[in-house]
Amino acid sequence: MNIQTWLTEKDPKKLAQLWQMADTTRQTNVGDAVHLRGLIEISNNCIRKCAYCGISALNTPPRYRMNTAEIMNCVTKAVEFGYGTVVMQAGEDYALTTKWIAGLVKRIKTETPLAVTLSLGERPLQELEDWREAGADRYLLRFETSDPKLYQQIHPGSNDRITTLKQLKQLDYEIGSGVMIGIPGQTYVSLANDIQLFAELDLDMVGVGPYIPHPETPLGSGQIKPEIAINEQVPNNEEMTYKVVALTRLACHTANIPSTTALATINKMNGRELGLTRGANVVMPNLTPPKYREQYTIYPDKACINETAEQCQNCLRGRIAAIGREIGTGAGNRKTSSL
Ligand code: SAH
Repeated sequence: MNIQTWLTEKDPKKLAQLWQMADTTRQTNVGDAVHLRGLIEISNNCIRKCAYCGISALNTPPRYRMNTAEIMNCVTKAVEFGYGTVVMQAGEDYALTTKWIAGLVKRIKTETPLAVTLSLGERPLQELEDWREAGADRYLLRFETSDPKLYQQIHPGSNDRITTLKQLKQLDYEIGSGVMIGIPGQTYVSLANDIQLFAELDLDMVGVGPYIPHPETPLGSGQIKPEIAINEQVPNNEEMTYKVVALTRLACHTANIPSTTALATINKMNGRELGLTRGANVVMPNLTPPKYREQYTIYPDKACINETAEQCQNCLRGRIAAIGREIGTGAGNRKTSSL
């Protein structure tokens, strides 16, 4: 399989074959279950200056941090709704201390059957170790691009996330990563390398979604403009996203692959469903209370921004049933061998 050739393929008949291959590979390796991960966006405070992100330290959106009771309220809902996992995501916020997060993880693990996924940015190794010890099962950290020069431009002063992912694996976390599709400066070659790297890192979860420009960011406003020839720039559109979802499934047979909110944002009608029929097997319904959800503006016009947790889960259940798939039960860990 030549990944780069597929990325530039335009023939609808060939692409229909790609969708079919990805769907069959998904069916054979992870089955028809769609696992639900309840997302709780616990803080939008951040010290990083990522050039694409609307909640970076460069911006001044209203900031919030959820308290323990608010978070546990969302966790209770996850159990009620039959989700197998909660994902706690935030900006890189050091007011979320090691101890506080560890306590929260311990509490969720003792009071519920849920798997716990953390996505709290580039925290020091010692903290990642402590949280694993407290019972956290998985860590999500997208490497955003495998091109070191582009990474420096869009992610100034950051750690090497690829090294961190390897360390997380050694700590026996299930590891999740991914990239945005169509960030300015992203070439077909570098995107093909990204997909290859997903397989090399043996990722347990891979999240990919379109880059959605946020006008109040250096990358979205055009203040930073990575140099690139027009014919080399990957577009940030829907079709390219499906190609990457499908190719990711073909490269990583047993990985858990979400049909992302960013994809649902650029096709609100049936983006989620198309992702699920072209390689994906996971959906992440949002549990964050609406008053906070609207402040977690990593990009504009996010899908489901005004929905309550109840509305979100009803809508997603309906969508999954309509395409003839079933809701996964249990934690939805990665299957280590094919079915
Ligand atoms: N602070 C955490 C969580 C970041 S938000 C971390 O850095 O890992 C989760 C993901 O949203 C990011 O990794 C990025 O890939 C994606 N994201 C951020 N801004 C985006 C944008 N403008 N368009 C599309 N996706 C975006």
